[in-house]
Amino acid sequence: MTKPVTYENWTQHSNTFDHRDETKGAKTVLEWAYHSYPEDEIVYASSFGAEAIVLIDLIHQVKPDAHIVFLDTGLHFLETYEVIDRMESRFPSLRIERKQPEISLEEQAAQFGSALWKRDPNKCCELRKVIPLRETLTTKQAWISGLRREQSLTRANMEFINKDEKFKNIKICPLIHWSWEDVWSYIRIKDLPYNRLHDQQYPSIGCFPCTQPVVAAGDSRAGRWAGSGKTECGLHTR
Ligand code: SF4
Repeated sequence: MTKPVTYENWTQHSNTFDHRDETKGAKTVLEWAYHSYPEDEIVYASSFGAEAIVLIDLIHQVKPDAHIVFLDTGLHFLETYEVIDRMESRFPSLRIERKQPEISLEEQAAQFGSALWKRDPNKCCELRKVIPLRETLTTKQAWISGLRREQSLTRANMEFINKDEKFKNIKICPLIHWSWEDVWSYIRIKDLPYNRLHDQQYPSIGCFPCTQPVVAAGDSRAGRWAGSGKTECGLHTR
């Protein structure tokens, strides 16, 4: 095992990976990651969107019993829970954890009022996503994310290996060079399960109160928190 890159001894490693292979560097980065960090020090935080399906298949090739965490806000579409079940059946050796917030939806409504996502989505995401992920990452040196550069302007500068100032660890993004077409080509060739909402004009799928179908081509994340000015749930912002 090589000495891992940590938040404390951070140096940029992304330039050492060639992205001209058939997975655009993703598999090489995953092999580096799972050889660099002890298995209880690295986790993949997965949304189970289209990118996640690709990433889980690649991770399974490198680390068949990898730890994957899904932030179960309690507000996901039934189709999302369905695809998680199907992925668990397809990859039974993976350790898929459904992490729930400490605060229940009923407690959240009692404390902050009903439908907090309409009035203060940042607070709602903090309670239901950011805090649960922080709890998971406190014991991890690194986490994996399925971000792609072309997804949005806020993701255009991501590197394979990133110093994560928010969670004070290392964020690994193996799919930064993949296009939307690359993702779907891989899913079809490998005949992988995917969220059926992708066939109904939902390119990016989060909680049901904050996700709408996208009619016009363009920003694949345009259906998330549409009309609110919010573009990220807070996991990938400082
Ligand atoms: S995406 Fe919406 S419902 Fe889900 S945690 Fe964030 S604000 Fe709440």
